[in-house]
Amino acid sequence: MSLFSPPAGADPLGSTIQGVVRAASAGAPRSRQRRIGPSSAGHPCARRVGYELAGTEHVNAGSDPWPAIVGTAVHAWLADAFARHNRELDRERWLIEQRVAVTPTMSGTVDLFDTQTGTVIDHKVLGADSLKSIKRDGPGDQYRTQIHLYAYGLARAGHEVRRVALACYPRSGWLDGLHVWSEPYDDALAADALARLAGVAELSRLLDPASLPAEPGPTCTWCPFWRPGSTPDATGCPGASAP
Ligand code: SF4
Repeated sequence: MSLFSPPAGADPLGSTIQGVVRAASAGAPRSRQRRIGPSSAGHPCARRVGYELAGTEHVNAGSDPWPAIVGTAVHAWLADAFARHNRELDRERWLIEQRVAVTPTMSGTVDLFDTQTGTVIDHKVLGADSLKSIKRDGPGDQYRTQIHLYAYGLARAGHEVRRVALACYPRSGWLDGLHVWSEPYDDALAADALARLAGVAELSRLLDPASLPAEPGPTCTWCPFWRPGSTPDATGCPGASAP
């Protein structure tokens, strides 16, 4: 039975639809991105950052693309919603999907900047466990670094940035479940993240990414370089069993 064979009794149209969706997802621009961006720069695993810096091809194509598809669709819907609010206000309170240069070699797209409060906002569409974790403990290093790097880029472009925020929407559930985490913008946090990245980049020039310290965890299954059951090398990492 192939990976996409329908279970007994299921309409075979299901496997056709899955195939179309998976093929479209695999060809999406984000899936082909190879240069490290703000969303990966603060990942706690130096080895993963090293792979990104080396432009390593993704080997973990097996993860289900649906959460990313839902996230992309929700981002597009939200961009329209905030553009509509700008039109109703007859002014540009919200800067939407603003391209920003963080460094000469790193750029990204800021989901939303609220010019009224000086808040840089990133939309996150999250599963129940991640949402619960952010409500309980706040965001981890990766999300926190990402939003401060966006703020850093916007501040350098001349915007008056005062706060950063993550607007966390439940992937399944209700709008009432929206959770917003925020804190003051910290220029030093962004500068520290860039300094750490420069350190990993320096090591990456000298060493194979597999030689960089790994920090395996539950998110390894989402890592583009996760290759379970293998020996770590320049092309992939076994994750939880990583030496
Ligand atoms: S699989 Fe896990 S340990 Fe290995 S590089 Fe990715 S995040 Fe790091």
